[in-house]
Order: sequence, then C-alpha cells, then structure tokens
Amino acid sequence: MLTKARSFTLKDNVIFPRQGFIGKELDSESDLADHGVRKYDYSTGRFMAIDPLWEEYKAFNTYQYAANNPMIMIDPSGFTVTFTNSEHQSAHDRIYNEQVDGVYVNQFYRDMYDKLNSSDVSYIVKATTVENIPGMTEPRSGTITTDGQNIYIDIDPNQNTKYEREGTHEMIHALQFERGQEDFQLINGKGVGQRNCVDAEAEAYEHSVVRNSDYIGLNTQEIRNKVRTQYRFNQNQEHFEDLRTDEVNQRTVLRTPTFFGILYPKP
Ligand SMILES: [Zn+2]
Repeated sequence: MLTKARSFTLKDNVIFPRQGFIGKELDSESDLADHGVRKYDYSTGRFMAIDPLWEEYKAFNTYQYAANNPMIMIDPSGFTVTFTNSEHQSAHDRIYNEQVDGVYVNQFYRDMYDKLNSSDVSYIVKATTVENIPGMTEPRSGTITTDGQNIYIDIDPNQNTKYEREGTHEMIHALQFERGQEDFQLINGKGVGQRNCVDAEAEAYEHSVVRNSDYIGLNTQEIRNKVRTQYRFNQNQEHFEDLRTDEVNQRTVLRTPTFFGILYPKP
C-alpha cells in the first residue's frame, strides 16, 4: 500500500517551510525530496535513481535510504563514513559514545567523525594489507588511500593493530584532507597522499584516541621532533601549506583520472 505524501496545513502569514527534515531544499513542484545526489519520493519511500555507491553496499537493495532505517539514521549527502569491519565499528561506537559524568570523553574524535560523516566524500574504514614505504624507518600499519571515488582508511589486521590507535590516527589525515591540507595523486590507479608534513603527522599522533607507544608521554614539541626524524621530513615539509577553513562551504570535490582533491574557489 502506498502512503500519501505528508502535507502541511498552513495558517495565514505562515511561511511555507523551505527545507525538509534533513535540511535540504523542498521541491514543491515535483513533490520529490532533494537528497544531494538523488531525489527521494515521499509517497513510495524510495529513491528515483539507484544509490551511486550501491556496489559498496550489496547487502541492501539499490533504491533504499539510510540502510532502510530512516527512523534512526539520516543520510544528508548520500555519502558517509562506513565501517566494513565489525571490530572497527564497535570500537568506533564505544569511542564516540564514551561519557564521564555526562560529558563526552572523546570530543575531538566526535567532531572529526561528524565532519567526515556529513562530507560529500565517502570514507570507508577497512581491514586490509598495508604496504610499507621504502625508506621509512618503521613498518606502517595504517594509511589512507583513494581509488578516485572513495577515500579508504586502511588498517592492517596482521600487525596487532587497533582502531583506537591506527584507525583514529588515519581518520585525522582524512580530516586534513577535508580541510584542504592533503590531496591525492592517482598513480597506477592508487591514490598516493600529497603534502604530508610535520604538522600533519604531529596532529595525528597527538590526537589519536590511543597513542602509538613511541609517542606516549611526549609533549607537543617532542612529538614534532620524533615525527621529523621518523619520517625524515626536510625543512620544507614543516607546516601545512594552506588553511582554508573559511572557504570550506564553497568547496567542490575534484575527481580526474590522475587527481583526487578538493577545490576551494577564491572568495
Ligand atoms: Zn600518519
């Protein structure tokens, strides 16, 4: 049975609501809801087009919305943070919701996750083998990559890895990408991070939910010193090139055969 679309009874001088319940513009002519990449038909509870990321979510049918659970989940852009590994998912849930005396313990993590989750880029956390970088002094157990469509937070399950440590570290690099401090060059179909620097690694080591053992007990300056030698950064790789937070709202995601990044128009 089809349900009738919800309607509003309007009193005089009451402005018709311009936005639907997830904050997107209402389209009163077509009676379809704008959900970014797709239009949603209220009367059937289905989208008018298939989910562009349907290949990532084969367990769900391609016309569904928010994993068929709209009572508890919204999906404003159609692009979200997804966990493919149940251990990572439950570690995330615990970190995100942890409270002491009614105060969230991991506020930096919560703000970061919320920003990534509302982004127009899909972030996918997965367990996978991580290759080492020649010349780095220690083996890597996590990294962020891209295939030109999504950004992956890769955590290597073979190296005693923990989402709390490696996952939250890599998520900070994803946040740096969101801020325009990181881009990817696509080389042989693999997205290689550009513009890595002392600022980027020091922030990731300092703010991961559980610190890498090499970084426990170090202050900010000591973390920077350790990062500098561990990653062999030269003096041109000290600071972020750009901080473009004022332009973030006007950004566009750029996907080309060789580049995956974010463009910020000049104000
Ligand atoms: Zn890092």
